[in-house]
Amino acid sequence: QAKSSDRISYARFTVELRQHLQRRQILEQDMRAALADNSDELQLAYQPIYDLSTMRPVAAEVLIRWQHRTLGAVSPAEFIPLSEQTDLVDRVGEFVMRNALTDLVRDDWMYGLLCVNVSRRELSDTAVLTRILDLLDTTGFPADRLCIEVTESAVTDAPTTTRTVLNTLREHGIKIAIDDFGIGSSSLNQLYRLPLDIIKVAQPFVADLGESDHARAIMSGIVGMAHATGLTVIAEGVETTDQLATVVDLGCDQAQGYYFCRPSPIETLTEIYRG
Ligand code: C2E
Ligand code: MG
Ligand code: MG
Ligand code: MG
Repeated sequence: QAKSSDRISYARFTVELRQHLQRRQILEQDMRAALADNSDELQLAYQPIYDLSTMRPVAAEVLIRWQHRTLGAVSPAEFIPLSEQTDLVDRVGEFVMRNALTDLVRDDWMYGLLCVNVSRRELSDTAVLTRILDLLDTTGFPADRLCIEVTESAVTDAPTTTRTVLNTLREHGIKIAIDDFGIGSSSLNQLYRLPLDIIKVAQPFVADLGESDHARAIMSGIVGMAHATGLTVIAEGVETTDQLATVVDLGCDQAQGYYFCRPSPIETLTEIYRG
């Protein structure tokens, strides 16, 4: 009896594994084609970031969107990690950077800071430097209006190359943000040695603030440490009025999230800034 159910779950496992591998293969192949064709399937969404003392937008994060013709919307949380296992990661990075810089360079810098996610794999190769600096050059986008978002894990056990890359970007005036802070396991000791400007506190952590005294104490510590070392704190994923009130209370500088605005097309971002 135990044996036959083992066999059934093994068979199911094999089927699921095969489907998983097939999906990966299709996604990789189609992502490659979409990038090569500059396909409409790939779009950029922008989410405004608000200053909490004025409640005005002061920055925007760009997020890639993929509307696959048969599979529908594919999340970047699925295809970015996949792209990191191949050379595709550099092409995705180039696509997002080029189109975002071009989108935002037109309107008299009214958008403030542009935040672009750069994946761990891209940062471990100095080619990313030339790519970013060349794009700033060709678009005319000012380096000090660009912010690179890197995840906590990408920098805490970073190879020397990554540190060199981050230092060089910063020497050019580009800002560096730690993304998804608070859910990883970095030591503060490692963090303060890095060239940083902004700490973005992760959405799950912000969501806990309402329920947990503990989370609030830690958040207050993060803000204290950040301000003592001259860093700006952005709360990510603020969805409710209560969460907003809490992050304001705890001294966060800026916030983004569905409470303010969902990631939207550039036209919507422009309206928000004009409005
Ligand atoms: P992230 O950089 O931490 O981006 C924030 C994510 O939270 C986005 O998910 C955004 O849509 C979502 N979000 C915004 N406000 C709220 C909120 O109030 N509540 C909740 N629950 N979520 C909110 P998205 O767009 O699905 O992206 C997921 C992750 O994929 C990003 O996390 C980032 O790590 C990666 N990613 C997205 N676009 C790019 C890109 O162009 N390049 C790279 N390398 N990674 C990207
Ligand atoms: Mg981000
Ligand atoms: Mg984040
Ligand atoms: Mg993330």
